[in-house]
Amino acid sequence: MVENSISEHPEENPAIDIAGMLPDELRGALETLGEKKYRADQLFAWLHQKEAVSYDEMTNLSKKLRQALAEKYPLAPLRMVREQVSKLDGTRKYLFALQDGNVIESVLMRYHHGNSVCISSQVGCRMGCRFCASTLNGLVRSLLASEMLGQVYMIDRRLRELEGPDAHVSNVVIMGSGEPMENYDNMVRFIRLISCPEGRCISQRNITVSTCGIVPGIRRFADEELSATLAISLHAPDDEKRKKLMPVANRYSIDEIMEACHYFFRKTGRRVTFEYALVHGQNDTDADAEELAGRLHGLNCHVNLIPVNPVRERSFIRPDRTHVLTFQKKLEKCGINATIRREMGADIDGACGQLRNSYLNDSQESGG
Ligand code: SAH
Repeated sequence: MVENSISEHPEENPAIDIAGMLPDELRGALETLGEKKYRADQLFAWLHQKEAVSYDEMTNLSKKLRQALAEKYPLAPLRMVREQVSKLDGTRKYLFALQDGNVIESVLMRYHHGNSVCISSQVGCRMGCRFCASTLNGLVRSLLASEMLGQVYMIDRRLRELEGPDAHVSNVVIMGSGEPMENYDNMVRFIRLISCPEGRCISQRNITVSTCGIVPGIRRFADEELSATLAISLHAPDDEKRKKLMPVANRYSIDEIMEACHYFFRKTGRRVTFEYALVHGQNDTDADAEELAGRLHGLNCHVNLIPVNPVRERSFIRPDRTHVLTFQKKLEKCGINATIRREMGADIDGACGQLRNSYLNDSQESGG
């Protein structure tokens, strides 16, 4: 049926996701409403600089235009449903409800160099990494660009509320739930929008995209002419060990991933980060460190060691501190730069996807 062929829901019809439109697209959309180009620029600034969540805030647009926009392009701001504050380091974890009722989580981490936000790119995840809580219930859906932006904007608004008009997010890592390369177009759109000089203007150098190693995505990303950082979740020095932790290792070998990383470096000149979750008895021996160093040799890169965060539903054990230090030293001895990720918010559902899962469990238990 013709009237049903165009969905009213932005997720199924991104053409109506106005808060995810690039400046040119927005100009086109306003032109069809009979408006001049500068109106689109005003609207863009409201959405992406002032982080407005409703047309009512946009006082330099006429009432008539605001009404027309609200009818044709309803805004769908995120709703904060939970905020948890770590007593240890001030990390804040957020649960946001999307317009369709799904919930996602985001994390605000406080560093000396600024405020870093870790955002989700999907509701759930289908990659199935064995140690990860985000993937326990599979993938529900990918996020729109506006829903990725919304996580940063809502946290910006919250920071201003807490700490005054100058408080803001300075870094974004796409390292929450979901695989960004499986939501490629929206992920790239997000980076272009959030770094837009007429908008929120976060430098692309302060944005990191983390992938479990989707090789065609890495290559395509290298060709985008962006200057964002690429992080690879490697977690093992060889394919056999990697397959035990990450099903995606059956699709792409470490050799293929490394070739794609070299290509990324050639195209962008950006140092690549490798994430390596240390799991007791699986990937944490001296020999593992040596083999890992051998793999990475010759690429301008950096290893981020993460003692695995035990997830209630999984039985992985984190190595103790001295063991982690030994692993780091071994890598450095082999010429590979390595740091140990400082654990943030350990008292508030630490690992990826845990807050959302405990929320979903709670609401199931209470019949919600
Ligand atoms: N899908 C992307 C981004 C999301 S996961 C990716 O795989 O990179 C963000 C990072 O947290 C990844 O390196 C992931 O492997 C890691 N991670 C997930 N669960 C973890 C856990 N329980 N302990 C330590 N690291 C974990």
